Amino acid sequence: MVSALFPTYARADLAFERGEGAWLTASDGERYLDFGAGVAVNSLGHGHPHLVGTLSAAAAKPWHVSNLFQIPEAERLARRLVQATFADLVFFTNSGAEAVECAIKTARKFHAVEGRPERYRLITFEGAFHGRTLATIAAGGNPKYLDGFGPPTDGFDQAPYGDLEAVRALVGPQTAGVLLEPIQGEGGVRAAPPRFLAGLRELCDELGLLLIVDEVQTGIGRTGRFLAVEHSGVTPDIAALAKGIGGGFPLGACLATAEAGKGMTVGAHGSTYGGNPLATAVGNAVLDVVLEPGFIERVAGLGVLFRQKLAELEDRHSAIIESVRGEGLMFGLKTRVPNVEFAAAAREAKLLIIPASDNVVRLLPPLIIGESELAEAARRLDAACVKLESAGAAR
Ligand SMILES: *Cc1c(COP(=O)(O)O)cnc(C)c1O
Repeated sequence: MVSALFPTYARADLAFERGEGAWLTASDGERYLDFGAGVAVNSLGHGHPHLVGTLSAAAAKPWHVSNLFQIPEAERLARRLVQATFADLVFFTNSGAEAVECAIKTARKFHAVEGRPERYRLITFEGAFHGRTLATIAAGGNPKYLDGFGPPTDGFDQAPYGDLEAVRALVGPQTAGVLLEPIQGEGGVRAAPPRFLAGLRELCDELGLLLIVDEVQTGIGRTGRFLAVEHSGVTPDIAALAKGIGGGFPLGACLATAEAGKGMTVGAHGSTYGGNPLATAVGNAVLDVVLEPGFIERVAGLGVLFRQKLAELEDRHSAIIESVRGEGLMFGLKTRVPNVEFAAAAREAKLLIIPASDNVVRLLPPLIIGESELAEAARRLDAACVKLESAGAAR
């Protein structure tokens, strides 16, 4: 049957009927181990009892009241995000791109209320991904996503990722700040080099610029810290969150210090759905689990364990796997075969993983994953490699 959906995705011919933890059951009854987690979204896996219970209870109360009224669940979620991070203020959105848009607007407005409205440009990085709205494709700078959509939105200058001197050279009288992912996700699980974030922080302090981190993929415990920027000891001014924060319910957030957010006064920004009672009830339920003492430390520990298994696979299958990257439970395998072929082979072994740029496949298990499931994923990756090796030998 011809699909009535925009054909903007190359979808696998696979639909799922049930989910439990890290497992998905397809409509043909086959069980898959889910190491994509809906692109780092299902942080607590599928059917988590606390999320199901919370959403069911919220469904019996008003779903939506608009931001013209008090929303206690949103107040509570904002307060908890502030307590867990560098931030003083939160704006809720429905997606990652909207969280980044809010971050961009917050930075521009900061300089405007400081009396420097000419400072509206942000320095962004090659290989970045910030979403698919008109401003965020311009921020990402990927020609594949910009092509055919008219002149790119003005206000973004790109530097090579990790090149501090290039950033310094790009700073001009119109520069408002720097926007980056601490670990590039779609770009191929590329981590900023050591000291890069610290160097950017120093540069921003020296020149009166804002440091904005896009933690849409890396945030909420994914890398073994609540925010990935914490690994570097750096305090940003603004951060964008989404994906894992809703555990599958559409929810994003823009976090800012009181200083960086001081331009966002009454009427400066808005969202009809943003932070509605359903979404923020679920966001609070996600935090109930992720902020439990020891949860994020466990993610970091499991990451170390899984990295060892991946390093063994890399040794055993050096014709297939070129390198292993990542932090916490966010891994990338750079493959020597086309990454989509590798992902297809893994799917045949009933393991779901996600291609990224730079010929990388991402492994993004739910954060509630168990040790035995990590071992099972390694076995399935091994099987996929063996299959690809014999296919290569037959060529
Ligand atoms: C996924 C992603 C986005 C966009 O999020 P959407 O919810 O698809 O709009 C932005 N930035 C990063 C780093 C992402 O991984």
